[in-house]
Amino acid sequence: MNTFHDYYNTDEFAPEFLHMMELVNELGPTIAKRAIQIDKDASFPTENYEDFAKLGFLRLVIPKEFGGFGFSLGQYAMIGAEIGKYCGATALTFNMHTSSMMWSRFMYELPNLTDADRAAFAPLRERQFRNVVENNAIYSQPISEGGTNWTSKPIQTNCKKVEGGYLINGFKKFASLAGYCDYYSIVCTEHFEGIEPRHEDTMNFAVHKDTPGLEVIGEWDPIGMRGTHSKDLVLKDVFVKEEEMMMPQGMFVRTLPQWPHMMATLTPAYMGVAQGAYDYTVKYLRGEVEGLPPIDRRVYPTKRATVAKMFQKLTEMRALWHTAFMEARGFPSKAQVMRLYAAQYAVMEGVQEMTALAIRTCGGQSMLKSLPLERMYRDSRCGALMLPYTTEIMEDYLSVLTLYDMDKIDEASSDTASARISMWRPAATDAPLAAE
Ligand SMILES: Cc1cc2nc3c(=O)[nH]c(=O)nc-3n(C[C@H](O)[C@H](O)[C@H](O)COP(=O)(O)OP(=O)(O)OC[C@H]3O[C@@H](n4cnc5c(N)ncnc54)[C@H](O)[C@@H]3O)c2cc1C
Repeated sequence: MNTFHDYYNTDEFAPEFLHMMELVNELGPTIAKRAIQIDKDASFPTENYEDFAKLGFLRLVIPKEFGGFGFSLGQYAMIGAEIGKYCGATALTFNMHTSSMMWSRFMYELPNLTDADRAAFAPLRERQFRNVVENNAIYSQPISEGGTNWTSKPIQTNCKKVEGGYLINGFKKFASLAGYCDYYSIVCTEHFEGIEPRHEDTMNFAVHKDTPGLEVIGEWDPIGMRGTHSKDLVLKDVFVKEEEMMMPQGMFVRTLPQWPHMMATLTPAYMGVAQGAYDYTVKYLRGEVEGLPPIDRRVYPTKRATVAKMFQKLTEMRALWHTAFMEARGFPSKAQVMRLYAAQYAVMEGVQEMTALAIRTCGGQSMLKSLPLERMYRDSRCGALMLPYTTEIMEDYLSVLTLYDMDKIDEASSDTASARISMWRPAATDAPLAAE
């Protein structure tokens, strides 16, 4: 049976990290078993989170000085993909939590923050890290608002300064972990009298689940990734104190474009689904799936050829994706960013091809809900539409980055041109972020 030691060069990683990779795989069969009911009911994988809390997974990227593991973004991606092999929805929601921690970790480490920036940031992020390390708090990351898009215009959800804090009003669509997290990492735009909402006034707050005015609403009955429980959120005069900011005013929009890899962290879940589909296909064709008659389907050359194709596809996807994530850093080069966009594209499209090939190759029974391929097939469909890096938007970014000089990019018209606000732009690392 394939293990992560077969598809990564594990010699280059420390034992502490490899131990966490092993732990995911020890827990894997239990996660896979739970995934069946979770998918059927579109319920949240609560028990997986209880296990994650016990084993320390909630603090993977939190710096060591605060009691975390201090893993890199690439290392987190590897762990996320191992989870995704067993349950895509668990991996996707786990990303929302870890991504919230990554923002606090990596944006703080960007080289062009001034001492004053860091002094303001330090207590805010420490507060969030402590919530996780000491209380196993789970964070979600509801940014999307449905039909409108923060890649094109400022976030519609708004906050206004009041005494001692802010009042938030707005609506969030697809709030994964809705009703099951402790904090919602709410991104919103600060509004000022007489001024049109501006990107540079984007704010980010950790809103506790029990805050008055915060309500989870709506239906959740999607085609795939059903266990993400991505319901809607309504925020009506939600009061947050200043210290509940996740980062200082203005930091989010000024740092995020220089850390594009942080916007690609939905891919580990889908990389995992692709690996899971491949692993299952191999087991099935060898007649080794527990509970099924041991029929050897390897005898058919056509099935063998498809598995070869799946292996080739998977290896190609992983090689690019792993390279892109292991070189992740703030202020990446243009070449690194283009590799990242290509990796995002390869994974979100490739996973659909992988699960379709798996179904075709395993044949009729794989359509049955009793086998996991049918779920993986539906889950795989969700990746390419996740903002801000949808497949369409990746095509636009790559099309202009390949053909235009940076200063001419905005002359290239496209249906997706409005989404270019999220596209990486080169910036000097020594330009102080605070100076505005
Ligand atoms: C299972 C699942 C879980 C999710 N979890 C979360 C979560 O936890 N947090 C979160 O923030 N979001 C989450 N999302 C939302 C996701 O990231 C997208 O925002 C959402 O799928 C967009 O769907 P839509 O129909 O609202 O908008 P779309 O119509 O797809 O896009 C909205 C807007 O984006 C812009 N846009 C989109 N595509 C283009 C394009 N090709 N060119 C130019 N502009 C474009 C346009 O302004 C468009 O009106 C989740 C989605 C799914 C399916």
